Amino acid sequence: MMTIREYKQAESLEEAWQLNQKKANRVLGGMIWLKMENINVGTAIDLSGLGLDTIEETEGSFSIGAMVTLRQLEEHAGLAAYTHGAVKEALRHIVGVQLRNLATVGGSIYSRFGFSDVLTLFMAMDCSVELYKGGIISLQEYAERPYDRDILVRLIVKKEEAEFFYQSVRNSQTDIPVLTCAAARLENGSYRIAIGARPLKAVLFELPAKAVVSAQELAQNFADEVKQKIVTGSNMRGNAEYRRHLAGVLTKRAVLELEARTAQEEN
Ligand SMILES: Cc1cc2nc3c(=O)[nH]c(=O)nc-3n(C[C@H](O)[C@H](O)[C@H](O)COP(=O)(O)OP(=O)(O)OC[C@H]3O[C@@H](n4cnc5c(N)ncnc54)[C@H](O)[C@@H]3O)c2cc1C
Repeated sequence: MMTIREYKQAESLEEAWQLNQKKANRVLGGMIWLKMENINVGTAIDLSGLGLDTIEETEGSFSIGAMVTLRQLEEHAGLAAYTHGAVKEALRHIVGVQLRNLATVGGSIYSRFGFSDVLTLFMAMDCSVELYKGGIISLQEYAERPYDRDILVRLIVKKEEAEFFYQSVRNSQTDIPVLTCAAARLENGSYRIAIGARPLKAVLFELPAKAVVSAQELAQNFADEVKQKIVTGSNMRGNAEYRRHLAGVLTKRAVLELEARTAQEEN
């Protein structure tokens, strides 16, 4: 159970940051994960008055506030159009609408769960994290960092000439995934493949374009490369070998889908 001694709605990011430097205090996202922890919180720091609950789209980017809910992401028309539905596909299996109405982008990315669909999804994009003190760093770098006491302010997704595709494998519809895979095909034919729920944190494979005779050959090449390099582990949802196999299957499917889509657009 979680107990909270004091509650403070932060009036500025500086105030939130100052409060968060004390070990007993905790920033609140949607509290979905926090409330399952066995902790005594000194001051619960609420960021909901800081205007971080919007998604702003410009010609070149999306700026996604830390208090944006997963449901807002899922329903955002601009993100849906930009990713060809990949955002919705990544989020729709996460428990249910009620949970997604509460869980936030800030809480999800800060937590960097191994099983995170959210982390996998954004890792395949040109995505950065804005930290109040730490400035703007790539999501990939953030994912590797240890947990600290900075405030995650927003995610910044730079728009690229790219096509995206998301898949996950689950033992049952709304369970935590056995493996996640987000793919991006860039304009020059190179790929980014992010694989999560290994069950370790998502990792990114950057695969340069290859001169091959067919989409099938390209997909097989990339799948073999990912399978060879990926580090997987075992837990109750699947063993390491099964996950390695799935990483190859999902990579192959993603490349075939994105090559077909590109070919269709070119015709
Ligand atoms: C039963 C269950 C099943 C789930 N299944 C999935 C799944 O299949 N796929 C998936 O991707 N996710 C899944 N999740 C995770 C969920 O989507 C959220 O990521 C998670 O609940 C955290 O989001 P939150 O907003 O509730 O964060 P909270 O619980 O409020 O906070 C989590 C942590 O983040 C910190 N924090 C929050 N906001 C900030 C900020 N702005 N700056 C710094 N630190 C911050 C908090 O202090 C805390 O340490 C599941 C969660 C549950 C409970």
